[in-house]
Amino acid sequence: MKHLIDKLTCTHSLSEKELLYLLEHITKEDQNYLIDKAHEVRMKAYGDKVFLRGLLEFTNYCKNDCIYCGIRASNKNASRYRLSLEEILSACADGYHLGYRTFVLQGGEDPFFTDDKIVEIISSIKSKYPDCAITLSIGEKSKQSYKKYYDAGADRYLLRHETASKDLYESLHPTMSFENRHQCLQDLKDIGYQIGAGFMVGLPNQTNEDFVNDLMFLKELEPHMIGIGPFIPHKDTALSGKTSGTLDKTILLLAIIRLLLPNALLPATTALGSIDPLGREQGLKAGANVVMPNLSPLYVREKYMLYDGKICTGDESAHCRKCIEGRINKAGFSLDFSRGDHCNWRRI
Ligand code: SAM
Repeated sequence: MKHLIDKLTCTHSLSEKELLYLLEHITKEDQNYLIDKAHEVRMKAYGDKVFLRGLLEFTNYCKNDCIYCGIRASNKNASRYRLSLEEILSACADGYHLGYRTFVLQGGEDPFFTDDKIVEIISSIKSKYPDCAITLSIGEKSKQSYKKYYDAGADRYLLRHETASKDLYESLHPTMSFENRHQCLQDLKDIGYQIGAGFMVGLPNQTNEDFVNDLMFLKELEPHMIGIGPFIPHKDTALSGKTSGTLDKTILLLAIIRLLLPNALLPATTALGSIDPLGREQGLKAGANVVMPNLSPLYVREKYMLYDGKICTGDESAHCRKCIEGRINKAGFSLDFSRGDHCNWRRI
């Protein structure tokens, strides 16, 4: 096993068979060795820096019906909201004063936000804060729409592939197409965005073979950012009562991803912090190098409830900033408030 981990560390690749063997047979001691290697590789690529991004959840309306998600269209118990342009700009102003130089605009797939509205939001933020990067995470759109957002100034786009196993994907997304999700990621890459893919860990019926598919898919796509986090059930979905993904497995996969793609921007996600009070710190020690504290106004925080037990729903942005700063320092890392672009990316 150590030989396999050394091979992964030196060559940044393993075959499907080797990855499966690693996932099936790794012991606690080997896992600690792998995490140490992931930490070394992260230190070589980015040093001890952790990039901070201000996250704005600006709408929880969604036309999709992903069966795991608390804001799925058919959840009639979700209390819906949309932020106005003024509310978005006010949250960005707070974020800018707190030091953030990246704003991540995330939401359900909400047709109310037409391309013109999204372009207006991007241009307004960019004209006030030209030194800031904008990341969008608003789901599947046409290539034309993606291009309009890019031309308006959006720099990055997060679109998790969710799972690279077609059957599993289709069982979780009854109204969506596996092929279209992949096409969207390719379109975003072709346009010139820094792209983010990623998946959930511990979905019902998900196997190590599925994780191997995810790892091979990521290695081939080479996204600039990779968001992975545990699946956590939501009480108003069909997966209510199912078991969450574990911290241990998520950390193992994070460390493998750091070794496969040394330069990737890897967030220690909110979901990781929600399944364990020190989950994000453990993620950072296993190779993660991004944290996305919440900048959304307090009065909507509890409504963007993707899963039960989401952390930081009652904390002011300034409190989140302070809390995360303490956690990052205590874990032995330093905060970086620059835009934090991927080292190989330039706007075209
Ligand atoms: N609509 C956009 C999209 O499709 O990319 C972004 C919003 S979506 C709610 C953001 C991410 O939340 C998804 O990519 C999914 O991985 C994650 N998510 C949703 N429900 C979850 C759950 N129950 N447990 C963990 N993560 C979840």
